[in-house]
Amino acid sequence: MDFKDKASERIEKYRKDIVGISKQIHAEPELGHQEYKSSKLLVDELEKHGYKVEYGVSGMETAFIARKGEGSPKIGILAEYDCLPGIGHACGHNLIAASALGAGIGLAELIEEIGGEVIVFGTPAEEGVVQNAGGKVVMIDEIKKVDVAIMIHPAPRWGSYGTSNARESFLVEFHGKSSHAGAAPEKGINALDGVLLTYTGINALRQHIPDGVRIHGIIKHGGDSPNTIPDYASAHLYVRAPTMPLLKEIYGKVEDVIKGAELQSGAKSKITQVANTYANTIPNKILSDVWRENMVKIGVEDYPEEKELRQGGGSTDFGNVSQEIPALSAYINIGDVILHSPSGAEMTGTDHAYDVMIMGAKGLAYTALDLLTDTDLRKNVRKEYEDRIETQ
Ligand SMILES: [Zn+2]
Repeated sequence: MDFKDKASERIEKYRKDIVGISKQIHAEPELGHQEYKSSKLLVDELEKHGYKVEYGVSGMETAFIARKGEGSPKIGILAEYDCLPGIGHACGHNLIAASALGAGIGLAELIEEIGGEVIVFGTPAEEGVVQNAGGKVVMIDEIKKVDVAIMIHPAPRWGSYGTSNARESFLVEFHGKSSHAGAAPEKGINALDGVLLTYTGINALRQHIPDGVRIHGIIKHGGDSPNTIPDYASAHLYVRAPTMPLLKEIYGKVEDVIKGAELQSGAKSKITQVANTYANTIPNKILSDVWRENMVKIGVEDYPEEKELRQGGGSTDFGNVSQEIPALSAYINIGDVILHSPSGAEMTGTDHAYDVMIMGAKGLAYTALDLLTDTDLRKNVRKEYEDRIETQ
């Protein structure tokens, strides 16, 4: 029996526990930086399997680093476990969490035999909606100590050769002056106008920005009463772009739009960064091919050949990891899911999703084993990373 068969057997042996934890995380969704129960479930289980855990790292109470084995090479497996406001696990981070756990369990004994270290990173607040979101950005100095980092994400398809957009997530607030909207409007300064002019200014900007850039958001506060001039209004906005320089350029233009809205409305603007800046993902074709071979070995029949790089529209703090070290975030196909919608939250809690998650856990364990046992593979993966960083 080879290492991969042994890992697979061990994951099957603990399948019930792994799925059980994913179900519990799904049943009690927790927002970013509040994932106390979710992270505790993972930490306790990893400790049961002999992992040494530091819990509460990089100044985040719900972050953890779980280690097994020692020396090098070091392979990192990334777990996420935060939910979306109002719609629970509509991004399926319960599946990401337990697949990382499953891979950690699968490798727990083998790593002692093979040598090197497996490190499961508990990375809070991936969704960019809470303050200081982007746990991987906050703990990047720890994560970048590993040779390669890997993770999975649920999706409506298989795939591992893709990128994601760089992103800024920020709150724009306008402060004006309230007054009677009928009797004395001339004495008021309308903060809502500041927000609306920002919104229409961004729409005017859209004609003049490159394809692939995305600007979107919501109005969070538009006033309290129609017969009072709103003295406060706010919007939560995202700017996304395929590269960091382009993100910076477009973000600068949006700042100008906000200044213009300030001049027009007379209301004072204030911009507050919400999430940490997410970098675009640096893909790795060699890692992606290794992953694909492993998934075919595990039994995925319809795994497509990925010749063309796929530009993803979303953003993730995994991008920041991929900027520092060779890394892979692979999509596991849980069916025709619409993530970030209420139906998505249902699909990430089905038996089918859990079956695919177990395959993902095996894929992570297999890929880690390839990296742990093949020096040339690690070298080649590193070389591709260096080449791409240089030319991006
Ligand atoms: Zn997600």
